[in-house]
Amino acid sequence: MFNKTEKLYYEDAYISDFCACVLSSSAVDDGFDVVLDKTAFFPEEGGQSADTGYIAESRVLRVYEKDGVVHHITDTEPSLGDHWCNIDFDSRFEKMQCHTAEHILCGIIDSLFGLDNVGFHLGEDEVTFDVNGVLDRSQLDKVEKMANDIVFSNLPVEAFFPPQNRLPYMKYRSKLDLTEGVRLVQIGDVDTCACCAPHVSSTGEIGVIKILDFMKHRGGTRIWMVAGNRALLDYRKRYENIKRISGMLSTPQSDVSNTLESYIAESEKSKAELKVARLQIAELEAKLVEPTVTNAVYYFPTFNIPELIAFSNAANKKIAGLTVALCGVEGDYKYVISSHNQDLRAIAKKINVDLNGRGGGRPEMIQGSFASTLAEIKEYFK
Ligand SMILES: [Zn+2]
Repeated sequence: MFNKTEKLYYEDAYISDFCACVLSSSAVDDGFDVVLDKTAFFPEEGGQSADTGYIAESRVLRVYEKDGVVHHITDTEPSLGDHWCNIDFDSRFEKMQCHTAEHILCGIIDSLFGLDNVGFHLGEDEVTFDVNGVLDRSQLDKVEKMANDIVFSNLPVEAFFPPQNRLPYMKYRSKLDLTEGVRLVQIGDVDTCACCAPHVSSTGEIGVIKILDFMKHRGGTRIWMVAGNRALLDYRKRYENIKRISGMLSTPQSDVSNTLESYIAESEKSKAELKVARLQIAELEAKLVEPTVTNAVYYFPTFNIPELIAFSNAANKKIAGLTVALCGVEGDYKYVISSHNQDLRAIAKKINVDLNGRGGGRPEMIQGSFASTLAEIKEYFK
């Protein structure tokens, strides 16, 4: 049994390097489970993913808390005793920016619409939170504007453990019905919320808050957001993307969606015209077919199934035997077989067995595929 770990991230969210004593380490499935006397590593908690970093030379892969003791899972085993430790502070600071931003957004949603925050996920790649009511784009635009005004006002953010006897008289948001050890995070006079995570010390450090997307989720709304450095990276990615599209379309960035819309409309029209033209080619091919009293095999490398069908419908009246129309490539031919005088369903199974194929259809026409060579198919229908 260990004493509870001293949590440096509660004393100061900006501690990135610290000296701590390794009290124990033991081999576990995914590395070594290391306990320190004190730590600045924030564990996976309250929807936020854990900090990473180093204890001496050992990489900290994951951190969790159990019964007040913080456990660090490392790749190698550090020796017992004092070591320098450091957390990946860029990543931690991004999470602090996003987490405080989420509090601001949820505080505004609570005050404007009376909705509660009922879920939160702050991972390495995305940030989402859930509220227990439906919000639309215009409402979220208003929330986003107000949230950024709070950022620009550079309000102080304070985290503290209020005296137990004062707690019942304090107004704060909380996902859980907490009664003791409650830590509150207060953002100026706009929001107070129970929270265990590290936060920035003033809202200006968040830089900017952007709501990315939202969807209905379990009767409420799930919202995707970015803030701070993640917002900058997101902006860069989107900017590069739109710059590329703008270059490809030779159109100003402000007009890409309109230009793309007309390109798509043109493309759809061309596709429809091409479809008609290809069917006409198939029918013209059928006109070139010479009347024959036996089976006849035709291979059209560039055709597809609708064109094989159009060809067969136009050609098979001139053919006393089976009209076998093929497209595709060696070993994977698509077929349409038709006849104006035989029930093809009766022989479809045998044809498929003999030519390593599969498929079926109507009495006058069957379609499918053959895993055979063209020579084998031609020989078979001779
Ligand atoms: Zn929180």
